[in-house]
This record gives sequence, C-alpha cells and structure tokens, in this order.
Amino acid sequence: MANDKKSLSGPTRAITAEIGTDLPFKAVSPPLYMTSTYNWPGFEQKGPYDYGRTVNPNREGLASTLADLEGGACGVITASGMAAIDLVFNLVNADELIIAPHDCYGGTHRLLTHRALQGRFRVEFVDQTDGAALTAAMTRGPKLVLIETPSNPLMRLVDVSAIASAAHSVDALVMCDNTFLSPARMQPLALGCDIVIHSTTKYINGHSDVVGGAVIAKDAELGEKLAWWANCAGLTGSPFDSYQTLRGLRTLYARMDIQEANAQKLAKFLDAHTKVTRVYYPGLPSDPGYTLAQKQQSGPGAMLSFELSGDKEAVRTFFGQLSLYQLAASLGGTESLICHPATMTHRGMSDEAMEIAGITQNLIRISVGMEQIDDQITDLEAAFSKI
Ligand SMILES: *Cc1c(COP(=O)(O)O)cnc(C)c1O
Repeated sequence: MANDKKSLSGPTRAITAEIGTDLPFKAVSPPLYMTSTYNWPGFEQKGPYDYGRTVNPNREGLASTLADLEGGACGVITASGMAAIDLVFNLVNADELIIAPHDCYGGTHRLLTHRALQGRFRVEFVDQTDGAALTAAMTRGPKLVLIETPSNPLMRLVDVSAIASAAHSVDALVMCDNTFLSPARMQPLALGCDIVIHSTTKYINGHSDVVGGAVIAKDAELGEKLAWWANCAGLTGSPFDSYQTLRGLRTLYARMDIQEANAQKLAKFLDAHTKVTRVYYPGLPSDPGYTLAQKQQSGPGAMLSFELSGDKEAVRTFFGQLSLYQLAASLGGTESLICHPATMTHRGMSDEAMEIAGITQNLIRISVGMEQIDDQITDLEAAFSKI
C-alpha cells in the first residue's frame, strides 16, 4: 500500500521534502532557482511565477515543508528571524497592544521597544509565569500575544495552551517563537497558537552557515495576509539561503535526537559537579520546568545553562581552557557553542535588569552539539580542573 504523505512521520517528511519533484530534468534533489524574474506565457497572461521577491520555488519548497512539519496551512520565508517577527507586527495597527514576555529574545525586546517608540503600536512586557500579571495584561485587550519558551538563557517554560486560550478569550492573536525547540520537540499550533515563527538560523538550518527566518500560519487566510506583507515590504529570503536551509532541515530530527541525548548526559554531569552551583535544563527532574516540558514538549531539547562556582577570574579561566567548545553566540548548529550571557548575548541589559532576570556573572549557556559526549565532557573537565 502506498504511503499517504500525512501518515508519514515528521522525520520522514523532513528527509523526503521536495525530493523527486523536479519536472524538467528529474533531478532527485531539487535544483536552485537563481532568477529574479520569469517569462510571461503571453500577452496579458500572467503565469504562477512572475517576480523573485514575490515567488521562488526554493523559498516555496522550504515554506511548505516547514508548514507541514509545524501543522500549519502555509508559511513565509524571510531574510532573518527578526524579519519574521517584524513581518508579524504588520498585523497590528497603531494604538493596538502587543503583550510580550519580559525575558524574550533580546532582539525581539529591542524591536518591540523601538517600534513602540515610533508609535507603530503599544507594547507591554509581562512575566508570563506570573498568572496574576498575565490575567491583568489580558484585560487591556491585546491584539497580539507573543510566547517564547523555553526562555533564553534560563530555560524557563510557560504553559503555551493556557496562555493561548487566555489570549483567545480576549480575541488576541497568539504568536509563538519556536526557535529553541523546533517542530521536532514542540508544535505550538497544535497547542492553540495562530502563528509560529523561527529563526531558521538555529536548529532548522542547523549548520551555523545561514541567517534566515520563517513565519507559519495556522490558517490560510492569515497566511495570505502575511505573504502579502512580506512581498509588499520586501522581507522574503533569498533562493540560495532557502536551498541551503531545506538541505539542513532534512536532518533536523536526527540532529535533535543526538544533541538532546548529549544534553541529557551533560546536564547530569554538570548537576553532579562540585564546581557547578546550579543547572538549568528542563530534562532534569529537579528543574522547575520538568513537568510542563513533559506536558507540551516531546523532549527537553538541547539547550542548557549552568552557574559556575567561583569569581569572575574563575569564569575567565574556565573559558580560556576550552578547546572543543566554540566561544560564540547563536545556537542550534551541529557543533557545540558556549557563551557567557552577561558579556555576550545579554550585554545590552542594565545590571539591574540582569539581576531581575536572574542572569549572573557566573551563568554559562551551552548549545549542545553532536560531538561525542565523552569528548565534550573531557573538554569541560579540563577547564573545571583549572579553577
Ligand atoms: C536568534 C533568535 C531570533 C532572531 O533570529 P535571527 O535569525 O538572528 O534574526 C529570534 N528569536 C530567538 C529565540 C532566537 O534565538
């Protein structure tokens, strides 16, 4: 019996996306279409493809694959994760309100703040783990509610379906940034969200060699509105980036399985280490997010943070000893990245804001990669032994 596409698993759908669909040459792997414009079939006859900002086969292949994996009607591919988020803001008019998590991605926080200063909309940042604060914010009639879980860098989780239903009860749209987990570990549309966005720069592409973004809409009408704005404002991604990203996306599930298994082992190693005072990873039964992760995720993912015991010099020595781990921001690639949020990803925050957010000088974040876990632990142990 032939397989119906919808009956196939996520990993199989990712692996086979767009494979064997080439009509002219029967290429197994879809070719790259580097064209800015297309011939019209004849006078007054517009074909399905007319101009590269509006349509491109590589972008469409990536968009439909991501929409399929997220369980949405359609998707738009953008030049970056930030372009994806800004695209969604076009659904909000001046004077309408956006509610966002107080600990959202720094770039999202900056964009919301400065768009609000321009008078594009109003914004309110809320601690979404605080039920009373969230309920109070909902009474102010938001047009759009943003969700981001797990948070960066402390891996705090929020209850996606509870926030989505509270937002829907006041007729707000709900957008979830699913960059940290990917559809391989959480499906926000199935949990009640209307829109999912990705920085495809991270797990979706997975090889730290493309910057890109995506917006996936649950229903086609909303998706058409977003595609209209993407074309209108010129936010769409390049054909080459889309081609590369689909290539990376094929192995998303296999990568996530290995990286998450490594993260589980690493979290246990760190949790038992005398030079570590605290580990933040929803895969540890002692983590405050453990139960919620089991409810809404199909695994804890491969991002974790920990606090090193010692002063700033100890932190400096620790970073100086690492050789396998790359000292870099970003995440989700096959290689392990390690970063110091206070001086890297979150350096734009004031000392006071950092303290409120719980980001200490001893906090270290790891994007756990696919290197053999024993090699990873050897690298860390060498650094721990010097402090
Ligand atoms: C990186 C990131 C973004 C921004 O994406 P870019 O591709 O860098 O523009 C947005 N949200 C989260 C959670 C991210 O990690």
